Amino acid sequence: MRMYDVISHKKSGIPLTNEEIRYFVDGFTRGDIPDYQASALLMAITLNGMDERETVALTESMAKSGDMVDLSSIPGVKVDKHSTGGVGDKTSLIIGPIVASCGIPVAKMSGRALGYSGGTIDKLESIPGYKTALEPDNFFSIVRVIGISIISQSGDITPADKKLYALRDVTATVESIPLIASSIMSKKIAAGSDAILLDVKAGGGAFMKSLDDSIALAEAMVSIGFRSGRSTMALVTNMDVPLGNAIGNSLEVAEAVETLRGNGPGDLTDLCIVLSSYMLLLASASQVDIAKRTVFNEGFIKDSALQDAVSHAKNSITSGRAFDKLCCMVEAQGGDVSVLLNGFPKSSIISPIMASKSGFISRMDTEAFGLASLALGAGRTHYDDSIDYSAGILLNKKTGDCVAEGDALAFLHTSDEKRLSEAEHILSDAYIIGGNPPPAVNSVLAIVSKSGTEIFQPSLGM
Ligand code: URA
Repeated sequence: MRMYDVISHKKSGIPLTNEEIRYFVDGFTRGDIPDYQASALLMAITLNGMDERETVALTESMAKSGDMVDLSSIPGVKVDKHSTGGVGDKTSLIIGPIVASCGIPVAKMSGRALGYSGGTIDKLESIPGYKTALEPDNFFSIVRVIGISIISQSGDITPADKKLYALRDVTATVESIPLIASSIMSKKIAAGSDAILLDVKAGGGAFMKSLDDSIALAEAMVSIGFRSGRSTMALVTNMDVPLGNAIGNSLEVAEAVETLRGNGPGDLTDLCIVLSSYMLLLASASQVDIAKRTVFNEGFIKDSALQDAVSHAKNSITSGRAFDKLCCMVEAQGGDVSVLLNGFPKSSIISPIMASKSGFISRMDTEAFGLASLALGAGRTHYDDSIDYSAGILLNKKTGDCVAEGDALAFLHTSDEKRLSEAEHILSDAYIIGGNPPPAVNSVLAIVSKSGTEIFQPSLGM
């Protein structure tokens, strides 16, 4: 086989065989296929796409390019959750403890922030002492004893994806649904869970800005999950407005704590309850059953199995069990639980941004909030940048709120005046204030399962 022919086939629109895909992934991972040939193939895939079989073959080859985690020593159905990332998305810190406190083991490997989108591992590392790199035996034993452990990707998981992602980043080939779907799903499959719940974000603060693209990505990933033997569902959720009120690492952990104590913002609490309920359902039933029974109507969950799952999830919060679970995990991983109980150190500079006029907030430029948080010091633009854990933004007003001129819309947290000015500049037009309240948008926009796609919100109104 020659790489030249593989590229030529994809360029001419001929689907690649499974052997050609394996040849490419294995050869590129070993370093036998040079970047210039891999780049040419990535561009041909970006332009001509891949069918379902090709995408599954690419995912499986990438998943098998390195270590495959074996979770079989942990009893029970292991359900993983993956969010495609957004602004203020701290759901893993809330959903993990909820699901674990309902008896479903959570053995989760999470990622770090890059660009304006946050990462669970950086958020957890804002807790002094919390170790995110654990040996597999220690990781498994914490899951067995406590029911939950969240660590960073360890060992040599999906080296093919690491190399391919770096190349896509510099060759304008990131925005390809088969490449994104195979990149995400290869990591999920290698991480070893039996079932996967995907939270695919749509809107201004998401990787996928349009609802149609988000649904297409969700459908591609659900299909890969099933064809690779994992029960998989996706919720497509709104990221046209930041999730909750906190953006930035320790600010988000503090908000997750408030949510687990029953005092979180409504949008965040509701979404976490819905996502946790679907994880509980995925753990307890086959996907086909779930899809048949799932009926959403005007935002209310009707199905009785789903309603049971919702009450378990809510109970885990009101009883305090979910918060206890978070504390136990943090303690087991060496973290200082006192910050969860008494609060985190605050930034030296906390500065408001004010409403320039009265009216209703008709839209927020959600990406700008992510970029401003990054500018304040909460994120990184290169893998080795350091992070200011207390930096970020606390929102005081969000889309739909009524404001008077001079009201504080948000508070910027940082330790550096220059960073503050940069963030203020980024946010100068980020709140759009109009005369009328905007139409309400559901937080769950669509659900994708093996049996099809149900759309609850036909558009984001953009
Ligand atoms: N996240 C991933 O892991 N891979 C992609 O290709 C895009 C987002």
